[in-house]
Amino acid sequence: MSTRKQTIDGLIKKIQAYDPEADFDMIKLTYEFAKQAHEGQMRKSGEPYIIHPLGAAHLLAEMRIDPTIIIATLLHDVPEDTPVTLEEIEQNFGSEIANLVKGITKLGKLKYRGVERYIENLRKMFVAMAEDVRVMIIKFADRINNLESLDALPPQKQYRIALESLEIYAPIANRLGMDEMKGRLEDLSFKYVHPKQYEETKRIRDERLKGKEKYIKTVQEKARKELEVANIPFISIHGRNKRLYSLYQKLQRKDEQVARIYDLVAIRIIVPDVGDCYATLGILHKLWKPMKGRIKDYIAQPKPNGYQSLHTTVFAENGEVVEFQIRTQQMHDQAEFGIAAHWHYDEGGTRMPKREIAWAKELADIQKDILTRMSDLEEMKIDFLKSRIFVFTPGGDVIDLPEGATPVDFAYHIHTDIGNKCNAARVNDKMVSLDTELKNGDVVEIIVDKNRKGPSQDWLKFVKTHTAKTRIKSQQKSSLTDWLKMVLPKK
Ligand code: MN
Repeated sequence: MSTRKQTIDGLIKKIQAYDPEADFDMIKLTYEFAKQAHEGQMRKSGEPYIIHPLGAAHLLAEMRIDPTIIIATLLHDVPEDTPVTLEEIEQNFGSEIANLVKGITKLGKLKYRGVERYIENLRKMFVAMAEDVRVMIIKFADRINNLESLDALPPQKQYRIALESLEIYAPIANRLGMDEMKGRLEDLSFKYVHPKQYEETKRIRDERLKGKEKYIKTVQEKARKELEVANIPFISIHGRNKRLYSLYQKLQRKDEQVARIYDLVAIRIIVPDVGDCYATLGILHKLWKPMKGRIKDYIAQPKPNGYQSLHTTVFAENGEVVEFQIRTQQMHDQAEFGIAAHWHYDEGGTRMPKREIAWAKELADIQKDILTRMSDLEEMKIDFLKSRIFVFTPGGDVIDLPEGATPVDFAYHIHTDIGNKCNAARVNDKMVSLDTELKNGDVVEIIVDKNRKGPSQDWLKFVKTHTAKTRIKSQQKSSLTDWLKMVLPKK
């Protein structure tokens, strides 16, 4: 998509399509304000600077994101790059917009140089996120637009920006469940970070996809008809290609043969509710024989990042293998936009209800710490970026923990008291030691001892989560205080 054709009128048209009530005068005014402020500045490509914030705003409008965020996006580089100050933005646009712009400005123009800069980047992003996660939505749009115009920069800079996007931005987008953002960041960076592998993966994909389009259309049509006959209401059926970087990773990981990658193209069926998902699966399996071991119920057992969907691979027309993904609109929005789904308008023009996101709360909790204690950053990096595992309480509740977490981390995640009084653990009905590494899908039961005085110092040697560490340390402090109270003479 060329940035040259993007105009303010085009932006307004895009927003009108999902939020006709938006304040369009305000959006136009914001654009004029930003354009004025950046007057005379040029992008490296030689184009006027305003095409960059405008391009980022277009990207968010295509994702049907809340106009307030789009307004802040138009202004995102104003305080840093122009004489206009944050105070002036606040006077003109109010405190909500000004705070978003301030969040972006605080992130600053980050440079990736060695581990320290890396940690500094992360620190800034954690702070911004904890304050207002909408800032990250703007930051990703900003970065994607920069990646799209990377060709204008010298190769050294191209590589640095792309690497940073791949190593820092994409994993965070992934953690936030923002698959659309993550996918774009990865595919745009891939080309610059691993140019050879990029070309090779592209060649492999194109070869496999040759002539496949027509076939997928036929299968799609057949499924559509069958759903209509069965009276199953569906919102949409469409094909989607696997993203290049994710294909590359899959090929890397398992030393896998491309012939055995079945989700190069998948057909996605979006239906109104969970019941329809299972009904649709039944229809497809009646129509075509499913492949053994390829039916995945991520609705009953969501993936670690919360992803929900039914997947099945079937032998469709002429015995060719096709993957289907079946989900509700809400699951779809959650999968594509993750935490941003709350600021995303669905096809009916309504927004998703706000959801409690446990780790976001956890982030807010530790926000104060990160500002002062750099040593905690390593921990947080591990907590946040390492892949997460999903374990279950005996009651079936899902608990999201970092890889390598132990029953003690689990106990503190449930409640501080459970952590403090945790005495033993049962995993999948077997007694295990408290330092056992939990695995995806484990059912964990904590056995508490009501008389237990508090956590053991030794636990600090193996716990993985920031929460558990802080709680254990603070408990030690308070038991020390208790002890001092006991031994010191009363006055
Ligand atoms: Mn920018």
